[in-house]
Amino acid sequence: MIVDRLRKGDEVEVLTGKDRSKRGTIMKVLPKEGKVIVEGVNVAKKHQRQTKARVKGGIIDKDMPVSSSSVALVCPKDGAVRIGFEFKTEGDRRTKVRVCRVCGREL
Ligand SMILES: [Zn+2]
Repeated sequence: MIVDRLRKGDEVEVLTGKDRSKRGTIMKVLPKEGKVIVEGVNVAKKHQRQTKARVKGGIIDKDMPVSSSSVALVCPKDGAVRIGFEFKTEGDRRTKVRVCRVCGREL
């Protein structure tokens, strides 16, 4: 079973680049590119042309993808942490879960 290191809705902290130490929620995971889109991170100003559908042209903010290796999952207790995987048994079901490498809590 594959458990993704990062999922939509995760809170992450940026480790590198201009948004270093900024936190945000993952809006989208792009597995093929190995990237994630994090709310408010790597924001690009996009110029929009005026069209019939869009009455007002102008500049809009757009969250651009960042490499998934440049963000770390945030543990509520420890902040940005490395994660590990563990198997958890519930009845006859064995599931793989993500855990904080520092405190061991399931993330
Ligand atoms: Zn922790």
